[in-house]
Amino acid sequence: MVRPNINNYEKARERMILEQLVPRGIIDQKVLEVMGKVPRHLFVEDALQAQSYSDFPLPIGEGQTISQPYIVALMTQMLNLRGDESVLEIGTGSGYQAAVLSRLCERVFSVERIKPLFVKARKIFDQLLYFNILCKIDDGTMGWPANAPYDAIMVTAAGPDIPQALVDQLADPGRMVIPIGDRTSQRLTLVTKEDGEIKVRDGEAVRFVSLIGAQGWEP
Ligand code: SAH
Repeated sequence: MVRPNINNYEKARERMILEQLVPRGIIDQKVLEVMGKVPRHLFVEDALQAQSYSDFPLPIGEGQTISQPYIVALMTQMLNLRGDESVLEIGTGSGYQAAVLSRLCERVFSVERIKPLFVKARKIFDQLLYFNILCKIDDGTMGWPANAPYDAIMVTAAGPDIPQALVDQLADPGRMVIPIGDRTSQRLTLVTKEDGEIKVRDGEAVRFVSLIGAQGWEP
């Protein structure tokens, strides 16, 4: 059996792009390029590393999951980043999504409610020298007012409604992507703010872990 090594992971990333992302409509070249570089296997535990580029989500402990690569690509593409944005992410989890975002914008602020996940993610950001990611432990449904407004916001856990605090902290113009629905199935929702006007558009059917907090679900 061939043991996975760094080179194999590079090949695994190439295959992930060609087999999972491009055929499903990920066309943003910068998103593809970044996902071809960020070492996704480092964001899961050792025993799962060999599966980390496969077409499904994986457990990351504490009952949470790292999203399937396609969903990470799709949500990132929906934000339409140019490189100079300040981005807020709710639900740091493994840290993988924040890592991808951090290569595509100026600064990422990421909020996680579960301390062990926050601690692990922060360690990997340091290891990879991703110094433009700032994280904190808190209820992300209240956003991160101190650094608002954000040009883009991504929520990687699913809520019943769009938290008002996040709409308030979105810049004008600004884009937010958030899965909205019930606790088992949701729609990837795009919220845009332009000239003071808020528009909400429903997208792909998805299944995310619950957004828990003051403007989310009960624990
Ligand atoms: N973006 C992550 C996905 C992790 S799963 C990744 O790339 O791995 C979603 C995460 O949202 C979980 O870690 C969960 O603890 C967190 N979460 C749920 N409700 C939250 C809230 N109100 N504030 C901050 N984080 C929350």
